[in-house]
Amino acid sequence: MYDNNNIFAKIIRGEIKATTLYEDDKVIAIQDIFPKAKVHALVLPKGEYIDIDDFTSNADPQEIKFFFDSLSKIAKQLGIFESGYRVLTNKGNDATQTVKHFHVHVLGGELLRAF
Ligand code: AMP
Repeated sequence: MYDNNNIFAKIIRGEIKATTLYEDDKVIAIQDIFPKAKVHALVLPKGEYIDIDDFTSNADPQEIKFFFDSLSKIAKQLGIFESGYRVLTNKGNDATQTVKHFHVHVLGGELLRAF
């Protein structure tokens, strides 16, 4: 069950401040507060989805495409499209998902360690 008191829901509603890197009516990208790379954005759909499985199972196909298409747009805006970037998402406990509002991490701006 989605908990609309999670921190990203509060950021989307404007109740908590974040550094917004990109925003449209469906998607918002914010600066990660504890960056793991020179560029570390968090991209979230504004709709209420707990994780990637909830999103791909329950969002409209158009919404899903719009979301994933926005990643390249945001990477271009952040100046990392040409140099390359990593997209990852955590789902659930073993992946250490800490915020239960679906988001993807977009990391780049430097050579990232392989994993
Ligand atoms: P995850 O562990 O995949 O759920 O990622 C949650 C991410 O949110 C972590 O990388 C945190 O550093 C980041 N984070 C937590 N609180 C905030 C906040 N208020 N503003 C920006 N990023 C945050």
